[in-house]
Amino acid sequence: MNANSALSEHASVVVIGGGVMGCSTLYHLAKLGVSDAILIERNQLTSGTTWHSAAQVRALRSTKNLTDLIRYSVDLYSKLEEETGQATGWINEGSLSIATNKERMTHIKRQESLAQMFGVKAQSISRDEALERWPLMNVEDVLGAVWSPDDGRVSPSDLCAAMVKGAKSNGAKIFENTGVSGVLTEAGKIIGVETDKGEVRCDAIALCTGLWSRKAAQMAGVEIPVWPCEHFYLLTKPIDGISGNMSTLSDHDSHLYIRDDSGGLLVGCFEPMGKAIDPDTLGEDFAFGLLNEDWDHFEPMMINALHRLPVLETAEVKMLLNGPESFTPDGSFLLGEAAETQGLFLGCGMNSVGVATGGGAGMALAQCIVDGEMPMDLHEADPKRFPDCFNSVELLSSRVPEVLGKHYEITFPARQWVRARNIRQTPLHEKWVDAKAHFGQFYGFERPLYFDKTEEPEMTFGKPTWFDQVGREVANAHERAAIFDQSTFGKILVSGLDAESFLNRVCANDMNRSPGRAIYSAMLNENGGIKSDLTALRLTEESYRLYVGTVALKHDLAWLRRHLGDDERVTLTDQTDDYAVLGLMGPDASEIANKVSAGELNELRYFQHGEAIIAGTRVRGVRLSYVGEAGWEITCRSSDALSVYNALNAAGAHPAGVFAQSSMRIEKRFLAYGHDMDTDNTPIDVGLDFAIAWDTPFMGRDALLKISEKPKPTMIASILLNDNLVFPLGNEPVYLQGKIIGKTTSAAFGYRVGKPVALASLSTDAIGSVVEVDIAGERYRGEVCLTSVFDPDGARMRGPEKSAQCQ
Ligand SMILES: Cc1cc2nc3c(=O)[nH]c(=O)nc-3n(C[C@H](O)[C@H](O)[C@H](O)COP(=O)(O)OP(=O)(O)OC[C@H]3O[C@@H](n4cnc5c(N)ncnc54)[C@H](O)[C@@H]3O)c2cc1C
Repeated sequence: MNANSALSEHASVVVIGGGVMGCSTLYHLAKLGVSDAILIERNQLTSGTTWHSAAQVRALRSTKNLTDLIRYSVDLYSKLEEETGQATGWINEGSLSIATNKERMTHIKRQESLAQMFGVKAQSISRDEALERWPLMNVEDVLGAVWSPDDGRVSPSDLCAAMVKGAKSNGAKIFENTGVSGVLTEAGKIIGVETDKGEVRCDAIALCTGLWSRKAAQMAGVEIPVWPCEHFYLLTKPIDGISGNMSTLSDHDSHLYIRDDSGGLLVGCFEPMGKAIDPDTLGEDFAFGLLNEDWDHFEPMMINALHRLPVLETAEVKMLLNGPESFTPDGSFLLGEAAETQGLFLGCGMNSVGVATGGGAGMALAQCIVDGEMPMDLHEADPKRFPDCFNSVELLSSRVPEVLGKHYEITFPARQWVRARNIRQTPLHEKWVDAKAHFGQFYGFERPLYFDKTEEPEMTFGKPTWFDQVGREVANAHERAAIFDQSTFGKILVSGLDAESFLNRVCANDMNRSPGRAIYSAMLNENGGIKSDLTALRLTEESYRLYVGTVALKHDLAWLRRHLGDDERVTLTDQTDDYAVLGLMGPDASEIANKVSAGELNELRYFQHGEAIIAGTRVRGVRLSYVGEAGWEITCRSSDALSVYNALNAAGAHPAGVFAQSSMRIEKRFLAYGHDMDTDNTPIDVGLDFAIAWDTPFMGRDALLKISEKPKPTMIASILLNDNLVFPLGNEPVYLQGKIIGKTTSAAFGYRVGKPVALASLSTDAIGSVVEVDIAGERYRGEVCLTSVFDPDGARMRGPEKSAQCQ
């Protein structure tokens, strides 16, 4: 392909890598009118991981947008032949996923509910019906299954050939046997690539280099957390009982996926702990290559396979295929622009769903390159979600085998990673260890989820084993005073003569407030979509400190840097590790402030901040609360955190964890980014209108103005559930009169109201209604209200029973 033609000297976009991600991105760039885009592949198209993929395409994912990417793929793969004349080998025989234990059944029921909400066909079926669909299967331990008729599989090489044909017909060019050996940048922006055939100048790069992406990104000065594991499937010779194409069969409890292959069986696995492999050991000429068979490693999976498919006892094995595939520390791929280098777009780390997702992911990446924004919110795949510490080879090679192993595990609430822990700790970590904290990892940081852990928490969809501990922490925060460790907030100092005008451009609220004031604001894109939300403390005329979400730091810093004009006198400084933040909350907070001689804090009004001295060190308290109880978020130097904590603790405040905080913020109807809002929402949809300063020139204002003229289609409401023995998790469909009218976005047990509470994105006509929330296939009634279900001050006046209602 273009083998003899000279390499282009210039291309608007250079796609590096000719696997499914590169081919799809090129196809979509060309479709979007980037007719001079080129793809550079150092070996041959598909020769990396794509050629040997099992290429199953199963649509249902944990979020609607991830599911939609695959649904887009399904649609594309079934239509490409018509467009290009090249078949893709799309086979639509559906997929069957079985359950062999109670928790998996619950998981399956939850999946079915999700499918209904996303408009994906999926139906739970009985063991006998499952057997009818897969007669070779041993069903003695099968409890039920879910059947998804729209799923299928594709021929990965044919698919890439079709996408390349489509791309070329729109002007794109392919250069095989051409290795990219360097990336050219100027002032932090991409300007070209160096190859073994010469230089190509370009404005953007789509880095689709599969398992080699870590090294490839380093050429552009960017570190990314992608590392491969070995991935196995067994192939047999033809077997009696297999004729024609069958559905794919997943037995996740046995870590297996199964499908027919040329009249035989293909049995692949995501074993509980994978095997990492150093990509450097493969070499650059690893084309159409495979790794050595490892029967010892595969043996436990073989035992599972023999149990599920007794016919394997007599089947003749063709080979145990072992191919490398890349993984990331959280099991989701990297899609979007890198934080460090403008114009470097990543489309890699596909975590074993590259073929299924490739069509949609290539479309989204191409659109992001052309428009500067993803077509939908894909924060789960944003490359900026990882802290730098995850780029270490040691951590990656420790974590990714677990990521492979968890691919088929039930996603229980509050499930945690076991490997690559204790990378980052807050200054109070030792205290939390002493207080028997159970930790969760957020942006690499260990945060206490709850205290007084007595045993490893049981993984369950039912009543959590930490229920009572969290209840005690909430009661303490509500009746006395609690300390929440909020030190993991991202902290960005914005300073300089133009700090105010700059922030007024990127923030939707009015940032022109006097020093000593705090401001809550969203940052919006040009479409009015919420990119992030933050609290800013105006420190001086020329400086603000922004407190952003723990996982948002890299994203928000990159967003601010991108929108800073060359002539603006503003400096952005990451102060995250310099400061600790302790949330002192509860009715005794005021007295505790007096006891520690920080009575000045009591003079502050809501959203005011000021200095005080606690334990001989200078702190800054801001009067606000994310849990609804009165108090302050107190910032101090990280090195002083221990003495400040000790003083507050001695004065009567006790630690409370993330679970207590979540429960309380949901009761108080405070939103969390990534749950209750994201780029698909505007502040108007989610009720943040109060934080829009219409008379300031903020980005996204024009789009918001237009939106504000139309009736609101959705809103974020609270739902107070009637049944206090049910445990909603968020992302559940909400029904009104038999029709889905929205979904829960966050949920928790509300200890102060004694009932489960959810926040939900609902159509506006649901206000005041009684709705039903579908939790694992059962419907539970709940009352909808636009305000919080709990108002601590009101409750104190009226007594707790009366407060368990919409305020
Ligand atoms: C055994 C196995 C079974 C699988 N089964 C499934 C499945 O059922 N369903 C599914 O969705 N996914 C499956 N996958 C995963 C899927 O195959 C991958 O996610 C996908 O193929 C990755 O595609 P890619 O384009 O990201 O990478 P690759 O296909 O590896 O493409 C990357 C390309 O970049 C090139 N390259 C690298 N560096 C350079 C450079 N410097 N210059 C030029 N070119 C360069 C490489 O030569 C390579 O061709 C499976 C994977 C394996 C290993």
